[in-house]
Amino acid sequence: MHLADLPRDVTAPAASGPDDLLAAVRAIALGPLAQQVQSIDRDGHYPAGILKQLAAAGAMSAHLDAPVGAGDFFLAIQAMAQVSRVCGATGFMMWCQGVCGLYMQQSGNPALLGDALARHASGEALGGTAMSNPMKNYARIESLLLRAKPVEGGFIVNGTLPWVSNLGDGHYCGAVAAVLDGETPASREVMFLLRCGAPGVELRECPSFSAMEGTGTYGIRLKDYFVGAADLIAEPARPYIARIRAAFVLLQCGMGTGITQGAIDSMWDVEARLGHVNQFLDERPDALQAELDALNGRIRDLAKTPFDSSVDFFIAVLEARAHCTELCLRAAQSALLHQGARGYLMVSPVQRRVRESHFVAIVTPAIKHLRKEMARLATPAAA
Ligand SMILES: Cc1cc2nc3c(=O)[nH]c(=O)nc-3n(C[C@H](O)[C@H](O)[C@H](O)COP(=O)(O)OP(=O)(O)OC[C@H]3O[C@@H](n4cnc5c(N)ncnc54)[C@H](O)[C@@H]3O)c2cc1C
Repeated sequence: MHLADLPRDVTAPAASGPDDLLAAVRAIALGPLAQQVQSIDRDGHYPAGILKQLAAAGAMSAHLDAPVGAGDFFLAIQAMAQVSRVCGATGFMMWCQGVCGLYMQQSGNPALLGDALARHASGEALGGTAMSNPMKNYARIESLLLRAKPVEGGFIVNGTLPWVSNLGDGHYCGAVAAVLDGETPASREVMFLLRCGAPGVELRECPSFSAMEGTGTYGIRLKDYFVGAADLIAEPARPYIARIRAAFVLLQCGMGTGITQGAIDSMWDVEARLGHVNQFLDERPDALQAELDALNGRIRDLAKTPFDSSVDFFIAVLEARAHCTELCLRAAQSALLHQGARGYLMVSPVQRRVRESHFVAIVTPAIKHLRKEMARLATPAAA
C-alpha cells in the first residue's frame, strides 16, 4: 500500500495486539507526526508529545519482556519502520528510547526495573543511549571517552561525549566508562544510567546537522559525576554488552527499512506521470520493494532470537543491518532521480530522505564499522 493511499485524518486506536499496535502507530505517524515532520527536520523541533503517544501505544516497548512489553522484537522493528517511513528522525528516537529500555531491563538492577521501567515503557520518562563510543571501542576503532574512579558506594565519572540523542530535562541515557586503577584505565568498564539533570552533568548544544535536527542531540560533559548502585547497569560491562549487542544492532533495522519504504512510496507517487521516462532508471520501485520484502523476512527470522550469543548469529545481524543501510542509500537516491525537480524542493520528503539515509549510514554502527566487524569476525580467532 502507498503512503498516499492511507487515511490521513485518523486517531490512534487503543493497542491490544500486534495489529492494533501497528494501526495505532500508523495513525500517529500519518496524523500528528506528518504535520510536524517539517519543523522536526528544519527547525529542530523535538517531538516529545509524539514520542509519548508512540510509547503509550506500546511502540517502544514491544521488544521488552513482560510485564512492560510483549517480547516481540520484530513488532518493535515494524513500529519503528512505520514511523521512519514518515520521519527518520523520530524513528531514530524510537530506537534510542527502545534500546535504553532494553539496557534497563537487561541490567537486572531492581532500581531500574519495576516503576522506573514502567515509566520508561509508557513514555512518562524518556531516554537514550551514549553507546557509540563504547561500541566503537569494542570494535577497536577508538578509545573510551569516559573515565570512572571507584569510590565508596559507586564511581566518580569524568569525560565528554560529542553527541547523544533523545536528551532533555529529566532524561537519561545508558553510558559506559573505563574504570580507573589509580590514574590508568583498568581492563574493565562500568555501564550506568546517566541522568541529565544531576550535579556534574552539562548538556552542550551541537552544531547544526544536515538532518536529524529535532532529535534532542547534545554533547555531554561530565565533571565529577557520581554514579551510585541504583544507576548501575553492568559491572563489568563487557559480558553484558556481548549479550545485548545483537539486539542493539537488530533493533536499528526499523529505521533503515522504514526510510527505504518511504522512498519507494514516493517513486510510485510519480509513476503515472513520469513512468514513461523513469523506466530508464536503474533502481525501479518494484525491484527495490522485492529486495526490501526479502530483507524484512530475514530480519523477522533474526528477531526471533535476539539474544543468541553465537558469532554466526551476530555476523548475520551485522549483514542485515549493512544491507538495510545500503538499500536505504540506494532507494533514497533513486527516489530523488524518479521525482526530479519536485523531489529536490526543500519541502519535499524525497530530499529529506536522502539526508536521513546518510544518517543511517553514519550512526554507530556506521557502514565502515559494520564492514570492519564483519571482516574481523570472519577470521577464525575472533570472538
Ligand atoms: C545527529 C547525530 C546524532 C547522534 N546520536 C548519537 C547518540 O544518540 N548516541 C551516540 O552514542 N552517538 C550518537 N551519534 C554519534 C554517531 O553514532 C557516530 O558515532 C558519529 O556519527 C561518528 O561516527 P563514525 O563512526 O563515522 O566516526 P568518524 O566520523 O570516523 O569520527 C571519528 C570520531 O571523531 C568524532 N568526531 C568527528 N567529528 C567531530 C566533531 N565535529 N566534533 C566532535 N567529535 C567529532 C566522532 O564522534 C568519532 O568519535 C550521533 C551523531 C549524529 C551526527
